Amino acid sequence: MSVSTSVVSDLAADQLGELHAQLVEQKAFRERQLRQLARVGSQYGERHEEIADALTVAARAALGDVEDALARMRAGGYGRCVACAARLPVARLEVLPQAARCMACQREADLH
Ligand SMILES: [Zn+2]
Repeated sequence: MSVSTSVVSDLAADQLGELHAQLVEQKAFRERQLRQLARVGSQYGERHEEIADALTVAARAALGDVEDALARMRAGGYGRCVACAARLPVARLEVLPQAARCMACQREADLH
């Protein structure tokens, strides 16, 4: 199997399966993290609670990205940029299976 171009014509079933497995794993990881953070907040004092709150916000955002990606997989839009509909390179999805945008649109989104 060779991917000679930077943009794939379509995701192969085995690639999609692999990315799906990664997303499911990340979802479980984030859910576990959120449960642990909820315990930290109630067990330790106020200072820990502030840190736990900040981490909780980040973990929730990450979980949201993963759930959105899983939703796109079910809906059929997975692997395409949500902003410009360009196909995302497999290399990008392998590093970041929950990626919603191509590099150009992500840069644009990060500015706002
Ligand atoms: Zn784009």
